[in-house]
Amino acid sequence: MIIEMKYWKKLTADERLARVQQALKDNVDFSKDANLGYPASRLDEKVFTNESLFLREMPVLSTYIANPNHIGCHTFGTSEYAFKGTQAIEREVLNMMAVDLFKIEEGQFDGYISPGGTEANAQALWIYRNEFLKKLGAKLEDIAILASEDTHYSIPKAANLLMIDWIKVPVDPDTREVSPKAVKDAVKSSLQQGKKYFIVVANMGTTMFGSVDDPKVFTDILHEYQLPFRMHIDGAYGGFVYPFGDFENQINFTNPDISSITIDAHKMLQAPYGTGIFVCRKGLIENVLTSEAKYVEGMDLTLCGSRSGANAVAVWVILTTYGPHKWFEKISVIKMRTNWLCKQLDQLGVIYFREPEMNIVTIRSECVPESLAHKYNLVPQTHDETNQWYKIVLMDHVEIEHLKDFIQDMVTCKRLNPS
Ligand SMILES: *Cc1c(COP(=O)(O)O)cnc(C)c1O
Repeated sequence: MIIEMKYWKKLTADERLARVQQALKDNVDFSKDANLGYPASRLDEKVFTNESLFLREMPVLSTYIANPNHIGCHTFGTSEYAFKGTQAIEREVLNMMAVDLFKIEEGQFDGYISPGGTEANAQALWIYRNEFLKKLGAKLEDIAILASEDTHYSIPKAANLLMIDWIKVPVDPDTREVSPKAVKDAVKSSLQQGKKYFIVVANMGTTMFGSVDDPKVFTDILHEYQLPFRMHIDGAYGGFVYPFGDFENQINFTNPDISSITIDAHKMLQAPYGTGIFVCRKGLIENVLTSEAKYVEGMDLTLCGSRSGANAVAVWVILTTYGPHKWFEKISVIKMRTNWLCKQLDQLGVIYFREPEMNIVTIRSECVPESLAHKYNLVPQTHDETNQWYKIVLMDHVEIEHLKDFIQDMVTCKRLNPS
């Protein structure tokens, strides 16, 4: 992977601090300026003081205390003037994602930092549902969401809110792959149910398996049948892992069929909760304009209302602390640990699934004694007797040291219980 990036750059601690301090200066300062109209202020002074020098040198914490509100969308039209400094930082984060990582042309996207992947996914489905309703005269019952059975539950949640059906596409039980035949069958049965418009959600790393869907498996059939569709990529989990490999990632905006992407910063990037990133092509987000939002300067194009600008600053600080090369290195180390684990499991004859460029290893439940699953806090696919899988997620804190203990316990159990 050759990392040529225009926005995403590694900065020194001094550069980061100066940039964030400048952004805070460009915002209104509730502790100094006269601000009479906003139902907003800095964090409660009795509880959160910013007197200590220590805090002032921490860009993220000083932003928390200044408490900017990033309500609205800052890639489109005008925005709340009071917080323009930190809004610019949010735009930089979005540029790093949309332009640098996911290869959209400059200025050709909209987006925001949502409370999480759940909202970012709902935002996408909301946009496309409304587009079909308003522009193509669709009725709710004409629209189907097409996504694999391994898709995150935020999709059925959004389907429920938006009152559209989710057509679940089965996956191969071993490879977790969606086959062309499975998609074709799902499309055919949708058509029989009267569906005419399709919203595809392709996973860039499912939550349970880390499996990555090939977007073409869906789009080839939709093109063949000449059906109107939009496609969203759910990279909530995998967005900061999958693209960082020694291969050319094709799941990005160079594919004209991909209209939007969700990437959570509060998973692999270890940003604070409240940092789901949503980006979509220009010309789409207007479909969810709430024109009644008159007191917000600029247009309200997001599902949530008020949201913290400190979250944008936190993501910006993490990304510029690493820079793309260091992030690539970090992910490479994590993938090496995943390789190590898989090799040990192979030697033990344990059956598991692992997507090659991902850091999740999902083990058949019959291969893991329940006591060990409990001891190591492995997460089951379902919390009942039908469970078939346990997963190990190679997060930053999971080192070979811990994996070694798990493997040794597996060996011991196998010796006591040969089968
Ligand atoms: C975690 C996750 C989500 C939901 O994200 P939240 O940030 O928890 O709302 C959506 N999709 C996938 C694939 C996920 O892993």
